[in-house]
Amino acid sequence: MHLSRTRILNGLQCPKQLWWRVHEPGAAELLRSMPSQWELEEGRKVAELARTHAPGGVLIDIPHGSVRDRVTATEEALGSGARVIYEAAFLAGGVYAQVDILERLDRGFALTEVKSSLSVKPPHLNDLAVQVHVVSASGIDVRAANVMHLNRDCVHPDLTNLFVIEDVTAEAATIAVRLPPRIAALQVALGGSLPDVAIGRHCDDPHPCPFKSRCWPVPLPHELKSLYQSHTQLVDLEAAGYATILDLPPGLDLNAIAERQRRAVQTGRMVVEPGLAEALRVFEPPLAYLDF
Ligand code: SF4
Repeated sequence: MHLSRTRILNGLQCPKQLWWRVHEPGAAELLRSMPSQWELEEGRKVAELARTHAPGGVLIDIPHGSVRDRVTATEEALGSGARVIYEAAFLAGGVYAQVDILERLDRGFALTEVKSSLSVKPPHLNDLAVQVHVVSASGIDVRAANVMHLNRDCVHPDLTNLFVIEDVTAEAATIAVRLPPRIAALQVALGGSLPDVAIGRHCDDPHPCPFKSRCWPVPLPHELKSLYQSHTQLVDLEAAGYATILDLPPGLDLNAIAERQRRAVQTGRMVVEPGLAEALRVFEPPLAYLDF
């Protein structure tokens, strides 16, 4: 069995999460957390646009499930001297990785990962590190690793500056050299029983784990963290012994919204402040709301 780059990233976040993903691929939690059609389409369009910045390449256009055929096609493209390969596929040490854009340099190769974000984020570096590890282990001389992300300053319809390319070679290489023992440990863990991992911040970092309902205790109704207060104030309230909004006595130094929330929760009724109609009078219909 081989592990995909995404599975390795799941395992680096939490071996227990990886174990469930591999041993229960049909779990209801996974079906619920699948990317939407819209997200997939967005990623596909961004990837296609990104390729225009390294034109004339060979696309490994083989179904994604056909791992060995994809790897073979990549080897053939490299063997025929292709200067650019899109979605190049590599398999080494039981790990499968795909490279959005692989470019042949005067010496060695550059890997570019395309992201539809507006900046480089820490998970992107782990992602590229896994690619650097697998591609290097496949015998390719990797000299550069880049993240190509969307440019906040680009203004439609001029898309000439749609992307920014950031060189993260050093950061990815630093992570990549530490990967082999971590990957080996994940592979061993997958062969055993469910790993014992305590809950913690890693359950939401870098991505919310789909299995939180299995590991985390059932939240109390109206638990304190649902109160509209700053994190510091929530910590202070928790330290004072309050566990839920239902526990909060009147007269605490809450902001106006949190105080309204406390009253609504404790009375079980919607609170409409007397000044609401007056506050809304300044707006001219028709009104539209943008939530994001
Ligand atoms: S909820 Fe946390 S501990 Fe449980 S599998 Fe997910 S990441 Fe691991």
